[in-house]
Amino acid sequence: MSDSYDVVVIGSGPAGYVCAIKCAQLGLNTAVVESWSDPKGKPVFGGTCLNVGCIPSKALLDSSHKFTEARDHFSAHGIDVGAPGIDIAGMMKRKDKIVTQLTGGVSSLLQHNGVTIVQGKGKLLSGRNVEVTAADGKKTLLSATNVVLASGSEPVSIPPAPTDDAVIVDSTGALTFDEVPKRLGVIGAGVIGLELGSVWGRLGAEVVLFEALDTFLPMMDTQVSKEAAKVFKKQGLDIRLNSLVTGTSVKKGSVTVTYTEKGEEKSAEFDRLIVAVGRRPRTKDLFSSDAGVTMDERGFVFVNDYCATEAPGVWAIGDIVRGPMLAHKGSEEGVMVAERIHGKPVQLNYECVPSIIYTHPEIAAVGKTEQELKAEGIDYKAGSFPFAAIGRALASGETDGFVKIIADAKTDRILGAHAIGPSAADLVQQMVITMEFGGSAEDVQLMVFGHPTMSEAVHEAALAVDGMAIHMPNRKRG
Ligand code: FAD
Ligand code: AMP
Repeated sequence: MSDSYDVVVIGSGPAGYVCAIKCAQLGLNTAVVESWSDPKGKPVFGGTCLNVGCIPSKALLDSSHKFTEARDHFSAHGIDVGAPGIDIAGMMKRKDKIVTQLTGGVSSLLQHNGVTIVQGKGKLLSGRNVEVTAADGKKTLLSATNVVLASGSEPVSIPPAPTDDAVIVDSTGALTFDEVPKRLGVIGAGVIGLELGSVWGRLGAEVVLFEALDTFLPMMDTQVSKEAAKVFKKQGLDIRLNSLVTGTSVKKGSVTVTYTEKGEEKSAEFDRLIVAVGRRPRTKDLFSSDAGVTMDERGFVFVNDYCATEAPGVWAIGDIVRGPMLAHKGSEEGVMVAERIHGKPVQLNYECVPSIIYTHPEIAAVGKTEQELKAEGIDYKAGSFPFAAIGRALASGETDGFVKIIADAKTDRILGAHAIGPSAADLVQQMVITMEFGGSAEDVQLMVFGHPTMSEAVHEAALAVDGMAIHMPNRKRG
């Protein structure tokens, strides 16, 4: 016997649960299959993002930031709190409470929208049948007009640094340390390595980040990555570029890391080591060989621009498909797929997906970098404006960084926006909206920005695109 649905979604991360809710809102009979369960056997919704990704990492980033504010910055405001202490258990309890609240929220939303919840591991078979294997091994068959694969991703492990969930951990383990390590090594100076390194560095760990590449944050605009390297150095993060980790050895609760730095063999000792070398799509046993779904050489499910796989009626969204591994990218793919299943040819503008690093200051970007435009031979003009010249930033003591806007030299259309500084993510979001509407630098120049706000840096950067910033001397033109 099999249950029939209009749509079966496999995975309830930000891609899957948003897709399922949207399908249900559109009147489609929808089921979501989720294999993650808590120790009591209850399903856990929200995937990596809510449980071991975006949300818990931001909770700890916020707590650790507040700690550094109290320790290093309150006195400048005339506030004397003495030397603040750290209660790691309290910090973790707060983080866990936020996670529980949000994952519970997703559960309620799925139920409220009438989505059927099926607990177990889903596998797509031929003919859009989904076999679900429960924790006790019991199998159920679901049949669907449309199946959406949204099984997400998992941390990449590397042979020189196998995780042991004690001394050497992945990003999930780094969210549950029970004390601040004195010496912390991080393999990979990418987004996750920087965020987790920042959490524990702020709380007092000496942090060393090993990065195999010779460029820091190569996907960011070079002007931004240079400023970021400067700021992180000032914060005490020891970022070693050109440093490939080749081995580890764990003894008596500490780990010796061997690495080659610019070709030279070196070693360093740490109390904890975080492996943050990227994530890979989770596709093991997700579909049978006759399901008609194909993968690229890196294991990403092959989809077209609209997230349709090569099997009719089978879609794939989120971290298991090409593009940046970001929660909001997966969610919007979920919405697009739901609309398409319902018959509306909605299209996602991949040029306007923002990316953010939640360090302090934040780093955010949308669209093209200067180096990309140079490589593509596109004629552009760029303007940037420093927070040091923004009244609100000065009042908050947040003067590191800048906003940069890049526009097409001929049409003036905004092609990219990059920021490092206070509220960078929210400021870049303003440019996401502008770019979605095909806005130009002049459009932004002629808008009214509230004063005093951090947003004024966006206004001034747009003016600087044409050498017309008001609150700084502009480079002489011509
Ligand atoms: P996932 O969130 O991985 O969810 C997949 C779900 O599918 C899981 O619940 C899993 O149990 C379930 N599943 C898998 N296989 C099956 C199966 N066969 N049957 C049933 N269920 C299955 N992104 C951001 O945008 N912003 C951030 O700030 C951010 N911070 C991050 C911090 C960390 C430490 C990490 C690790 C990631 C972070 N990310 C962030 C990335 C973000 O978490 C992912 O891009 C996002 O979770 C991907 O969503 P998804 O729905 O594709 O997959
Ligand atoms: P991200 O893809 O943003 O999560 O970043 C992961 C980073 O880890 C990349 O910049 C890789 O270059 C880096 N990396 C991968 N393997 C190693 C290694 N063995 N030693 C040092 N860095 C590594």
